[in-house]
Amino acid sequence: MGRRDCVRPASEGQTLIGLLAVIVIISIMAVVFLKPGGDGRNKGKSMPTQVKERAQGVECKNNLNQLRQAIMMMTQTDEAKPKSLREISGIPESMFSCPVGGQPYQYDPSTGQVRCVCPGHERY
Ligand SMILES: [Zn+2]
Repeated sequence: MGRRDCVRPASEGQTLIGLLAVIVIISIMAVVFLKPGGDGRNKGKSMPTQVKERAQGVECKNNLNQLRQAIMMMTQTDEAKPKSLREISGIPESMFSCPVGGQPYQYDPSTGQVRCVCPGHERY
């Protein structure tokens, strides 16, 4: 009687730990393999390169978003678009160029559009 009471909680605990381990493994696999935009374009490249490029692409996208927001805010307050990206205050120097290719972002003062010239970043 005493023995049964001792064994049961232990095995339940093991089941729980096993279940948790499975959940952790599945979530890691989901993060690594099921990222959005994974359409097989990067076939043949090693996983670390893919992950690094994707991370830098996200950084590029983020830079562009920040620049666009800053331009939009300037347009709303000053009712004039900045003549160059350097006129935007509060943006660190590193954000004026693409983290992947290193090329400076192209800015059109007449339309207020900012874009990246790096291949694959045209639609960011
Ligand atoms: Zn870029």
